[in-house]
Amino acid sequence: MKVYNTLSRQKEEFVPLEEGTVKMYVCGPTVYNLIHIGNARPMIVFDTVRRYLEYRGYRVEYVSNFTDVDDKIIAKAVEEGSTAEEVSQRYIAECKKDMEGMHVRPATEHPLATQEIQGMVEMIQTLIDKGYAYPSSDGTVYFRVKSFPSYGKLSHKNLDDLQSGFRALQVSGAGQKEDPLDFVLWKPKKEGEPSWPSPWCDGRPGWHIECSVMAKKYLGEQIDIHAGGEDLIFPHHENEIAQSECCNGRPFARYWLHNAFLNIDNRKMSKSLGNFFTVREVAEEYDLQVLRFFMLSAHYRSPLNFSRDLMTAAKNGLERIQTAAGHLRQMKEQGQPGEMSGAETAALEQAEKFICKFQDAMDDDFNTADAIAAVFELVKFSNTQAKEGCTGSFAEKLYGILCTLSDILGLSLEAEEEILDQEIEDLIAQRQAARKARDFQKADQIRDTLLEKGILLEDTREGVKWKRV
Ligand code: AMP
Ligand code: ZN
Repeated sequence: MKVYNTLSRQKEEFVPLEEGTVKMYVCGPTVYNLIHIGNARPMIVFDTVRRYLEYRGYRVEYVSNFTDVDDKIIAKAVEEGSTAEEVSQRYIAECKKDMEGMHVRPATEHPLATQEIQGMVEMIQTLIDKGYAYPSSDGTVYFRVKSFPSYGKLSHKNLDDLQSGFRALQVSGAGQKEDPLDFVLWKPKKEGEPSWPSPWCDGRPGWHIECSVMAKKYLGEQIDIHAGGEDLIFPHHENEIAQSECCNGRPFARYWLHNAFLNIDNRKMSKSLGNFFTVREVAEEYDLQVLRFFMLSAHYRSPLNFSRDLMTAAKNGLERIQTAAGHLRQMKEQGQPGEMSGAETAALEQAEKFICKFQDAMDDDFNTADAIAAVFELVKFSNTQAKEGCTGSFAEKLYGILCTLSDILGLSLEAEEEILDQEIEDLIAQRQAARKARDFQKADQIRDTLLEKGILLEDTREGVKWKRV
């Protein structure tokens, strides 16, 4: 299995630190509003990576934080006259609802920054003790970037270039810093903001330290995969590496995975640009599985442009898979009893080729676009093979393969309660054919099956009409 590592800028063979286990950390959202579909991209992508790793037999320890203390959360609390805690708790709950709708499974752990302050204070103290950080006169603690010679290794920036870039900028707090490159680990409180005591001043942590602390606490000093959107490469992940490696004295994450942006009109979707749709808005118009399918239709390292056309294509594509699944479900019940025929056994072997194709695609840096193409090939194959007269066990086997592959992509076919229009039309056509062949027993059986699913048929002069009851 190969994964693209931002650190080496190459695809590398995936070998976990501990056989059979994958320790994975994904940077989560800052919770001051409903999440937008740009934030949803890493959630969906890395949930799919997790599902695939599990399918390949690994036990995955998956940690994803919520940043629940931040300037934007505080500003929102001031704006609405509540507290930062109230704001973050509300949006964490809303985010979890969106995740459920998108079939993003809860992480093994979802730590909150505000619950990990003690660990952050301890890590900052260790960095000071080891000479990698220093408090300034106002109590702000900075990381001494020059003390870590490999700073820049993830973003492939060199210190001299960064230095000249910074010289041109008027950096806030620059007077307190030894060097403009140094970044904040702890900052003094401002009036009316949440704060915690520390050896340096009452205050709160800088943003980067929380992930170093949480990854260490919940996964250990060394982890296998660290992931997030590509905007996090610099400075966030670069700073996490500096903090963790200086504190622990060993390499931090082996593989760094970054998703490309979800764009709109070819610009990054973001709250600050105001060009965003929330997941909740999309849910008003589409089943969130459609959003998930849309996200996975592109490779995670390719930029993806959000558009109505692409969402319609995703909706149609997903329906094609669901219709095939519905058909197989029906054949499973209504197919011939008994063992599969020789021809069916041979066909099943052919169908297994699509599993290999799917796996090959996912083994190549989680190429979900090609994996979906393999699912479509399976759908096409199953539509031609699971015909009238096939055995129930053949349909059941095909259905099992289709469900397994769909489940890796986080698409549920089994739990579909609502019968799709296409499925209804197919059953009506079969009923008509049965009547024509004077097989009234079968025709009635189909009518009853539909009624069980809440579909009432009416035979009218203009043909068969149906309605949901
Ligand atoms: P934030 O709340 O801004 O820290 O973002 C949470 C996660 O969403 C991070 O992994 C970001 O990189 C990611 N993210 C934010 N906007 C986008 C976007 N337009 N496309 C893809 N990922 C994004
Ligand atoms: Zn992080």
